[in-house]
Amino acid sequence: MNSPLLDDAHQETFFQEKVQVLADEVLTIIKELHEERSTLVNSRLIAKKMFNRESVQKLLDDHGYLAKGRSVSNDQLKQSVDTVVNRFAESLPLAVREHLSRLKDQCIASSSEDVLDTTVRIMRKLFNSISSRVNELEAILQTTNRFLSEMEMYLKKEMSSIEGKHHEDVALQNSIFSDISMIKQSFDMSGDIRMIKEAVFNKIANITITIEQKREQEMSRLEETKSTLEVMHRKMRDIVEEAEVIRKRSFDTEIESLQDNLTKLFNRRAYDKKIEETLANFNRYNVSSSLMIFDIDNFKQINDKYGHRTGDLTLRKIAEIFKERFRKNDFIARYGGEEFVCILPHTGLREAKEVAEHIRAFIENTVFTFKVNKIRLTITAGVSMFRKRDNASTVFERADAALYLGKKSGRNTVKTEDDIEKSGKSVSDFFIE
Ligand code: GH3
Ligand code: MG
Ligand code: MG
Repeated sequence: MNSPLLDDAHQETFFQEKVQVLADEVLTIIKELHEERSTLVNSRLIAKKMFNRESVQKLLDDHGYLAKGRSVSNDQLKQSVDTVVNRFAESLPLAVREHLSRLKDQCIASSSEDVLDTTVRIMRKLFNSISSRVNELEAILQTTNRFLSEMEMYLKKEMSSIEGKHHEDVALQNSIFSDISMIKQSFDMSGDIRMIKEAVFNKIANITITIEQKREQEMSRLEETKSTLEVMHRKMRDIVEEAEVIRKRSFDTEIESLQDNLTKLFNRRAYDKKIEETLANFNRYNVSSSLMIFDIDNFKQINDKYGHRTGDLTLRKIAEIFKERFRKNDFIARYGGEEFVCILPHTGLREAKEVAEHIRAFIENTVFTFKVNKIRLTITAGVSMFRKRDNASTVFERADAALYLGKKSGRNTVKTEDDIEKSGKSVSDFFIE
């Protein structure tokens, strides 16, 4: 109620109560304006809003506190500002409150005319400062969040590949987790943005260092693995090369051991192996195969007439003819001296005889030329075919007997085991003689 009869002391109390109400309202209005993100905050706008407030209207209706002709002193105004600022400060953190009190002193020191605008400006500054701090904090939180989720991804990835790795990894995770939990604690415990920021930065720096160390460890481990792999690769290459040398050497040895030095045809040893294989195949698959022996006629005379060296070259030429004339699958060996033996798989006696005949005729018509010497020679062949119950000796003996028959018949001819029978003799007859 208005009471123009109130004394000065009561008037003062009454005035202070009104200021309290106004301070509350001003504060509410400033907060509202801030939430609306209004950029235009000044005393006029606040005054305009103030008039619309119910409590202020009631207060203005009650004129009693301002007796006619009574003016508000500068001290009273400063006190009002103080009240408003104090009310406002109650809701702020300690650090901001200190800042506010410094600003308040400046405000009180200023002239009475602009004291309200200055107060509003200070408050606005504070709100902006709080607002920018909040934004800053939000940015820090966002960065931290991003960092933490990146780290979580990294850790998850790491952990999936880490399984079975060293204890140091577990220690790393623990250290990172403890840093994260300390960051969380900083958020929970400290109300001061600056402290939170500092704590977060410190922990992030810690985590970054730990991850960097981890990365370095991984890099050195990778380098180790790389060099181990290189060593292993080198060793493997050496082993492969060594194996290749051994393989080639044994292959060469094998070839050497089965090859005739002079003619490069297979030798007697190779023949011994081949005949056993052929017999085994014949017994298993009953594939008709033939065997033939060639012997150069009167070769002794060639040696005697042209020399042993020319004799050797002649043997080589004959071997070349054999290589050219026989089929790929036929096996040709130098049995010894001027005798050669051939195994013809999938070839019957008649067909084998034809092959031998072609070669015989070819050699008969060949002139072996060595420097000025023109040599003509002939060969005699004996042919047999593989039969049941044959062994290496029996099939060879029949061919040998046929060859002998050919020699007996005047040389330069091909005889088969059938010719032995036709001649009224038996194989054994040839070897008794
Ligand atoms: P035949 O028609 O009865 O087979 O008469 P031949 O002279 O060919 O038979 P003989 O068994 O009497 O002589 C074989 C000769 O072959 C004896 C040897 O001087 C010669 N000879 C054997 N091996 C070699 C060799 O490696 N090099 C040379 N140049 N001559 C060889
Ligand atoms: Mg001979
Ligand atoms: Mg001979």
